[in-house]
Amino acid sequence: PEVPAGAILAGAVARYGDRVAFSRGGESLTYRELGERAAQAAHGLIGRGVRPGDRVALRMPNCLEYPVAYYGVLLAGGVFVPVNPLLPETAAAKQIADAGAGVVLTAADVPGLCAGEPSTPPSVDLDLHDGLAHLAYTGGTTGESKGVRLPHRNVVVNTLQYACWMSGSLPALDADGGVVLDQVAPEEEYPTRLGTSVAINLTPWFHAMGTIAGLNALLLLGFTTVLHDRLDPGAYLADAEELRITSIGGAPALFAALLNHPAIETTDLTSVRTISSGAAPMPLEMINRMRALAPDAVVTEGYGLTEVTMGAVLGPVHRSGVRKVGTVGVPIFDTRVRILDSSGAEVPSGERGEVCISGPQVMTGYHNRPDATDEVIVDGWLHTGDVGVFDEDGYLSIVDRMKDMLLYKGYNVYPRELEEILAAQPGVLAAAVVGKPDASVGELPVAFVVPASGAVTAEALMSSVNEQVVAYKRLREVVFVDQIPVSAAGKVLKRELRGRLS
Ligand code: ATP
Repeated sequence: PEVPAGAILAGAVARYGDRVAFSRGGESLTYRELGERAAQAAHGLIGRGVRPGDRVALRMPNCLEYPVAYYGVLLAGGVFVPVNPLLPETAAAKQIADAGAGVVLTAADVPGLCAGEPSTPPSVDLDLHDGLAHLAYTGGTTGESKGVRLPHRNVVVNTLQYACWMSGSLPALDADGGVVLDQVAPEEEYPTRLGTSVAINLTPWFHAMGTIAGLNALLLLGFTTVLHDRLDPGAYLADAEELRITSIGGAPALFAALLNHPAIETTDLTSVRTISSGAAPMPLEMINRMRALAPDAVVTEGYGLTEVTMGAVLGPVHRSGVRKVGTVGVPIFDTRVRILDSSGAEVPSGERGEVCISGPQVMTGYHNRPDATDEVIVDGWLHTGDVGVFDEDGYLSIVDRMKDMLLYKGYNVYPRELEEILAAQPGVLAAAVVGKPDASVGELPVAFVVPASGAVTAEALMSSVNEQVVAYKRLREVVFVDQIPVSAAGKVLKRELRGRLS
């Protein structure tokens, strides 16, 4: 669609006006106020010399100023460059320089930017086809973060793909064939204290899942989003029950923290209608426990990566399609997914291979990295580096990341299979498996395990896991730890774990 990303906000403001969009502590921002402040921020940026196509970095945690600045940048015609606020100074400076961002905004800058400015959006000339809306950086889980070039089309399309899928509606087209952004159906009933759909936000907005699902799509769907500054599972559960929230979304690390908190036993989560997980594998055990706690909820996993703006595959939610627990679902609208072997040939369903994606949400390339772009985009298909398999009904399962796979005497060992078995063992709160280099066999599977208070021994764990797998996949060592290191986006930092073994 020839629609600027900033129109997502305009559509939501027109539709939901005085509804609270975001609240944090005692403060809140209605849709209308957000629209006005974002327009002011846009004028403030233009007044400071920002022109269409200029990059503006946002270096702030999730806070009420974030959406004001984000939509302000888009309305000014600028390019949003999200920076993880926890990145050390030198790493942040490197990313900002790589992006070519001349302006960096922190939360404290936003009120100053808006002061005295008009509250209707400026008119700017945008290149909607090739002009960037986002220059977003990959999570850096497996290596150095790379800048991903995402034109307006990608951001609008992926927001619509996700929001329409979640709400069970189709993108509406106007007489000229343009996408009508405000036709997304809101949830039908709101069993919440606030009378709207309610989510508690913890997904960082500097990450793809945060910007598309947690910001743009929630606004399009008319959600009221309650901000929590950090993951405090006790506070989350208390708010969830008190507000009768309708949606829980985040990385599996969020669900692990909630399920491991004692208050989960007594918290009423029956108001929840959708439970959505993404960014990393969600163990079956976890899905089943969440389903039991929120019987009216649809539990859906989604799969994507920064290189596809956010998402490419989702479990059917309101659609009549069958949900298959443990798969990440089926390709969303206008998206094609193929599984290729190492020679580039497509494999039949039931066989594993690399997940490759084509669709309007695929990036136009990495920023400043033509070499890396040519490696991953081949003949218009994005090669994800993830191993996946389709079942006979077209449902995709993610087996593991190619970079995390181990080789034991020439056999492929996928850590995720062992992690699933570990997660189902009593006394295991969390587990991650990595390869320990070994001169004679290649790599040996080693598990890092967070135990429930002293309940299990390494020997007992290894023997119950090992009797469920073939010999070459057997765990050779269990290391007990207090916590598994995860990135800000909730992905297990396997590089760090491997480092502890060498
Ligand atoms: P880098 O590419 O820099 O190492 P990153 O992988 O953290 O960083 P993202 O774009 O944030 O970059 O993450 C995308 C990856 O997350 C996917 O390639 C996939 O491995 C993983 N992932 C996302 N969703 C799921 C899911 N539902 N199940 C399993 N893995 C997932």
